[in-house]
Amino acid sequence: MKRFVIGAIAASVLLAAPAQAQTAQGFSPEIEASIAQTLPRMITWRRDLHQNPELSYEEVRTARVVAAHLRSLRMEVRTGIAQTGVVGILRGGRPGPVIALRADMDALPVTEEGDLPFRSRARGTYNGQDVGIMHACGHDTHVAILMAAASVLAARREELAGTIIFVFQPSEEGAPPGGLGGARRMLAENVFGDLEPEAIFGLHAWPTESGTIMMIPGPMMAGSDRLDITVTGSQTHGAQPHAGIDPIVVSAQIINALQTIPSRQMNAVSSPVIVTVGMIQGGVRYNIIPQTVQMQGTVRYLNPETREDLYNRIRRTVTEVAAASGATAEVTITENAIPTVNPPEHLERARAAAARALGADAVRSGYPVMPAEDFAYFQRELPGVFFFYGVNPPGVSQADAAPNHNPRFFVHEPAMETGLRAMLAVALDRVGPQP
Ligand SMILES: [Zn+2]
Ligand SMILES: [Zn+2]
Repeated sequence: MKRFVIGAIAASVLLAAPAQAQTAQGFSPEIEASIAQTLPRMITWRRDLHQNPELSYEEVRTARVVAAHLRSLRMEVRTGIAQTGVVGILRGGRPGPVIALRADMDALPVTEEGDLPFRSRARGTYNGQDVGIMHACGHDTHVAILMAAASVLAARREELAGTIIFVFQPSEEGAPPGGLGGARRMLAENVFGDLEPEAIFGLHAWPTESGTIMMIPGPMMAGSDRLDITVTGSQTHGAQPHAGIDPIVVSAQIINALQTIPSRQMNAVSSPVIVTVGMIQGGVRYNIIPQTVQMQGTVRYLNPETREDLYNRIRRTVTEVAAASGATAEVTITENAIPTVNPPEHLERARAAAARALGADAVRSGYPVMPAEDFAYFQRELPGVFFFYGVNPPGVSQADAAPNHNPRFFVHEPAMETGLRAMLAVALDRVGPQP
């Protein structure tokens, strides 16, 4: 109760204060001093990571930097979990719950544009192609923020009531063919050992207002699966279509029919869905109707409960549209990621903690988005809260900012302090010094 009153008073004072004072009152003087000391180092780490990005499951240097840092804080460190993953365990001076904080470490096959002095010039091989490598999704900032949180919390370890597991995860950006993505693989390799965290927290850079975070209850990011379709017709002369079955025309009908699933079959409010055909390939010559057409696509959905129904509709649409023309079609749907869903009561607790630390007006809600995030697999095992922190420079709107995965994706570095403070707030809410 006392805690709540202090929080409420602080929040009302903070609302009236300018931005600087608003954040400065978030923590105890000791923690504030530790944050102030850590901020310049956090920026240095981030620039180093940004300049040295590594693709999924190749985060060797990143893992080395992280492990050395955690060891310097006298944490128990485990490396090589899910190949390049790193875990640090910080045991507080007093008994209490176990929690986990997670950052993803991988970069993307994107060639960086723009003129940052620390821009990436790294190159590598992806799918057999020579590619530029860039932290185009902001995972460099996630790692630096979690390293900074580790510094601040380790400095106060005697006061902490409980244990914090720092999870540095490889390969968030997608599972390798036939393999598991980083979160699933860390879980399969028993990332928490014999510890049982009561909750896990993670954040993501997002092109919205700096100095704010977005906490969205319930489904927040989509489930994402891969769609493979093969349409088989009967090859014939381009001037004699009646002598065969044209899989190209059938594919065109399938693509259009698939669009009626989100727009005419699923509930637009409770089951938002996207079906995208991103690749279509068929034929070798202008006057030959080919035998087969291959299509690949992605399916996004927010409501885990309607997944099976959605997939039955996709299979039925594809096979029956093909059948109407005498063609056949095969549909394969491969799981890529399940939806990221914030349990409302844990989200609310985290939101209240962040509001106390950052000021209530810095904590926004907002709408779910259709990209996916494999943090969802942690949430399947234990309560987990995932949130965005805004990274746009002042005056740049979401519409004007380059989206994640764009070669000009940009993080306004002062925004990282808000990400750090939000992580500290949700962690200290669970294991912080209790009155
Ligand atoms: Zn990401
Ligand atoms: Zn990404």
